[in-house]
Amino acid sequence: MADCLFCRLAAGEIPATVVREDELTVAFRDVNPQAPTHVLVIPRAHHADVGALAAADPDALVAVHRAAAAVATAEGVAGTGWRLVFNTGPDAGQSVPHVHGHVLGGRQIGWPPG
Ligand code: AMP
Repeated sequence: MADCLFCRLAAGEIPATVVREDELTVAFRDVNPQAPTHVLVIPRAHHADVGALAAADPDALVAVHRAAAAVATAEGVAGTGWRLVFNTGPDAGQSVPHVHGHVLGGRQIGWPPG
């Protein structure tokens, strides 16, 4: 989608610190990190949220999860622990309507969320 921030980022039209790419996904550092490791993983194709992605393209949903695990390993947090978060809709604070998983690690990630 031409006016979608993360579509444009995946297309290389907006700069980002990309840490991993494959055919289906792109992973890049969050500009406002909430943990020592804070990487966003997106499908290249536009889907509004994780539910829409699951319904439309299960292979891409799996690819996003595989990419997240690979990022956690590359970031050195696979052993210490990490969290994958998909904020979905207004009550969860989703601010970019292109599905993105937050890979968070490198510190204790609290539970329950505030
Ligand atoms: P959410 O609130 O779950 O929709 O998360 C959106 C995330 O995207 C936030 O953590 C932002 O800091 C991050 N973000 C917004 N614009 C960019 C960008 N251009 N590059 C990297 N991260 C971004």
